[in-house]
Formats: sequence, C-alpha cells, structure tokens
Amino acid sequence: MSLIEQASRAIGDARELALACHIGPDGDALGSMLGLGIAAQTAGKKVVASFGSPYVVPGNLSFLPTELLVAPEDFPKNPETMVVLDAGSADRLGELAVNAKAAATVVVIDHHVTNQGFGDIPLVDPDAAATGELVAMILDSLRWPITPKIATCLHTAIVTDTGRFQYTNTRPETLTLAARLVAAGAQPDEISRHVYEEAPFGYLKAAGAALSRAELDEELSLVTTFITQDDLTSAGIDWGDIDNLINTIRLAQEADSAVIAKVHDDGRVKISMRSRGATDVGALAAELGGGGHRLAAGFTYNGDVAGALNEIRTRIGRYR
Ligand code: AMP
Ligand code: MN
Ligand code: MN
Repeated sequence: MSLIEQASRAIGDARELALACHIGPDGDALGSMLGLGIAAQTAGKKVVASFGSPYVVPGNLSFLPTELLVAPEDFPKNPETMVVLDAGSADRLGELAVNAKAAATVVVIDHHVTNQGFGDIPLVDPDAAATGELVAMILDSLRWPITPKIATCLHTAIVTDTGRFQYTNTRPETLTLAARLVAAGAQPDEISRHVYEEAPFGYLKAAGAALSRAELDEELSLVTTFITQDDLTSAGIDWGDIDNLINTIRLAQEADSAVIAKVHDDGRVKISMRSRGATDVGALAAELGGGGHRLAAGFTYNGDVAGALNEIRTRIGRYR
C-alpha cells in the first residue's frame, strides 16, 4: 500500500482525530490542518486541532475557519489517531510532541526536505509545494468533497507556501489544484487581501526599525537584520504579524541570502532564512538544529543576535 493509501485509511477509519501543526503556524500549517479537520468533521468524525504555545493565530490568518481549534492544554493526552501537518520533525510540535509520543497512531503529512520521517505513517513528499497539496490527495482518495470552507483553507496553504505561485516549488499540479479550489469556492482576492494586502499600522513602525538596521555583507552575499520583542511591544503588534517581513529584507539584489533574527524575551533567537537560489539554506538550518526547504528555512538559537548571525556567517560559504 502506498503511503497516501496508508494515511488515507488511518484517517478514514478513525472515529476521532487529533490534528496538530507546527508552532508559530503559517498559512500552510493552519490551512492544511483546518482543511483536513473540516473535511473529517463533515465525514462524521470527532475532530480537534491545535498547535504548541504560544497559542496565538497570526492576525493575517484569523480569517480562516478556526472553530476546530483548541488550546494545547485541551488537546487529547493519549490520542488514538493523531495527524501531524507541515512539521518537519517532532520537536516542531512544541509541547504537543509529548501527545504525539503517547498517541496510538501518528500520521505525518509533510513536505519538508529535511524531514527524516517520523511517526507511524510518514507521508512526506518534498516535491509537494505545500502540505495542503497532500491533504487534497487524501481527500480525493477518501472521496471526501471539497466544500467552500475547505477550499479556502487549502488555497491559503498553497498560496502562502508558493509565495502566490511565484516560487520554484509551483508545479503544474499546484496550479491545477488551485483552479479546482477556486472552482470549489475559494476566493483568491479575499485570501490575498487578508494574507498580503493588510497589516496593523504598527507593522510599518516595527518593519521600519528592522529595515533601518539591515546590513549587507557583499563578500558573503548576505543581508541580515534583527527585530526584538521591544520593537513589537512599542508598535503594539505580535510575532505573527511580521511573518512577511523577510520578503522585504530579501529584496536586496546584492545578496543571494537574507536572514532575519527574531529576538524573543526568553533568550531565544528565531532565525528565518531565504535564498535566491545559490545557497541551500535548508541544509544550513539543518546543521544548526533547524530545518525547512532549500530556499526557505529556519532554526532556533539560544543566545544573542551576534552569536546567531556568527553561526550563519562562518558556515554559509559551504552551502553555495
Ligand atoms: P519561516 O522563516 O518561519 O517562514 O520558515 C521557513 C521554513 O523553515 C518553513 O518551512 C519552516 O517550517 C522552516 N523552519 C523555520 N524555523 C524552523 C525551525 N526552528 N526548525 C525547523 N524548521 C524550521
Ligand atoms: Mn509551515
Ligand atoms: Mn509548508
């Protein structure tokens, strides 16, 4: 049996499903999880969905149908069937990694190239542009219909992970599925407006602070900057509001790679990296304990910004 068939059977046979996606969820994490969850609920299953703390839905994704979401502390402790979406490793689940360990069956649906395969049924396809593509394959294999709500979730997953169908991961199959989702009721104009065309005013202030600190290292073909909890607090915004900021940093045409260091108050620095193509930032992130894709990746560093950026600078030459 193929992994698609195994995953579909485990999901289709379950009476109750507990779904989880990666911490700090993006459009693919929430969209693929909620799309699958709503489809399963429509098929008569008892479904809950969650992600590890901080348990905050980013503002630009709060238009998604979030009624299945429960706080991580209310997530089943010993789920019969747990489905993990868009997480390249168990530690990306935050505290819900414990629940996955205690689950009878864990189905993993993911597309990270750094995913080494965890869980009982690891449906991992690095060629898929988004985890949402794999969810659509599962729905088709179970003959579960795609309602407008589900289409909205899956279209959001695909739009965000392909950068609006601009990145190299966009395949003909991706566009065919997007067309199907639009036919099924997804509204691309509304999805784009929420995700890309609006932000709280404070975003301008916080982005301005981060952009004013940008540094270009021409030798390493690297642009870097950082943003702190203080920047966000004075602008009245949250971490989930700055997910798109890396897209402005990486505009610098002199640099192949772009990095933003997000300095949290707990002494951790969360790194987001992007590459124009010459650098395998996924492999670099993996060496530093994180992961991702060839051209978009991240890792978490315990220490200060200078230390985190130094780890990158001393290694990046090896990944070109
Ligand atoms: P981001 O920069 O947060 O948009 O993430 C870019 C890609 O890298 C996404 O596919 C993430 O799932 C992945 N990623 C980000 N941070 C980490 C991390 N600490 N560990 C593993 N993968 C990560
Ligand atoms: Mn993701
Ligand atoms: Mn993804």
